[in-house]
Amino acid sequence: MEKILVTKSSMPDYQEFIEAIKPLWDTHWLTNMGTYHKQLEEKLREYLDVPNISLMVNGHMALELAIQSFGFPDGAEIITTPFTFISTTHAIVRNHLQPVFCDVKERDGTIDETKIEELITEKTVAILPVHVYGHVCAIEAIQSIADKYGLKVIYDAAHAFGVEYKGRGIGSYGDASIFSFHATKVFNTIEGGAVCFSDPQLYEKLYNLKNFGIRGSELVSEVGANAKMNELCAIMGLCNLKRTKEVLDARRERVEYYTKKIAQIDGVDILKGNMEGSKNYAYFPVLIQKAAGKSRDEVYENLEKHDIHPRKYFYPIASDQACFKNKYKKIDVAAARSLSERVLTFPLYEDLPFDAIDRICEILEEQG
Ligand SMILES: *Cc1c(COP(=O)(O)O)cnc(C)c1O
Repeated sequence: MEKILVTKSSMPDYQEFIEAIKPLWDTHWLTNMGTYHKQLEEKLREYLDVPNISLMVNGHMALELAIQSFGFPDGAEIITTPFTFISTTHAIVRNHLQPVFCDVKERDGTIDETKIEELITEKTVAILPVHVYGHVCAIEAIQSIADKYGLKVIYDAAHAFGVEYKGRGIGSYGDASIFSFHATKVFNTIEGGAVCFSDPQLYEKLYNLKNFGIRGSELVSEVGANAKMNELCAIMGLCNLKRTKEVLDARRERVEYYTKKIAQIDGVDILKGNMEGSKNYAYFPVLIQKAAGKSRDEVYENLEKHDIHPRKYFYPIASDQACFKNKYKKIDVAAARSLSERVLTFPLYEDLPFDAIDRICEILEEQG
């Protein structure tokens, strides 16, 4: 039996990629905001339907630098979700800011907007929600809280590539949103990411932060990191961008196939998102319900035994991880913890064999 991993990186046709990178052997221009960087930045600005965008070396640096670009004072508080990939919390802490963990909604995994306001103090400067699994957060409610208290809203949209909400690109909401183009994401540039933002002046700020603050051959105007996307990655992105519809269609077919089969199985539910947001089929999260006598960990181990490798995304929650446990304000995040104890993200990629889905569902039925 074929080994089935949770995902498989999406790649363009080999010959097409080789042809596309050929010009680099003439120009020898491999990085430093070259032609392909410019092209991809412009194409993604259109595709993502965002007013402003800055490409980055990866999603994590996109988030770190997006936060940094607002110049919050050290020790300030950012209200965020513990039900996320650890990068979200690291980006806050590495900016010398305090994460304040707000609970999530069990029905979709996004931050519980009704619990944000009670966490606001005079030190709060921003809200950092995550469109987890591509599920759209309660954008209007979050924005109205932010407006009322003068807070910034920075979305971690790492999972939400291509998602639209109310006729607009998801990255056009809030003050900034970041995307990840990591090899395991629904659209990849091998490693890569981007910050999308509403204030056009942030472009120069982010440019400085990603390129050592260099503004001329003899001028360094501010302290910056190195977080530029290179030309090979940009070309990978340009090639993969042409395939987004094909990839989306293939993923949708697999999700529909899974959905039909899982509907027949007791104690297994699909974690669905906000119905108003479009779907990007980036992940396929399911809930293994204890109440129906099923154990998530047993299902996980049983699938592993059959060489099928789902992931416990996200377990443990960020606030329970060794590096953060008991370090920050103690807040009840029972829903996030409960979700993290029941969730499994199942294998999903464009050419996932349908008979692998059959095998997974057979194992699920046997269980419990
Ligand atoms: C993948 C991911 C990131 C980080 O992106 P990289 O490109 O891997 O650095 C940040 N946040 C979330 C929610 C992610 O899933």
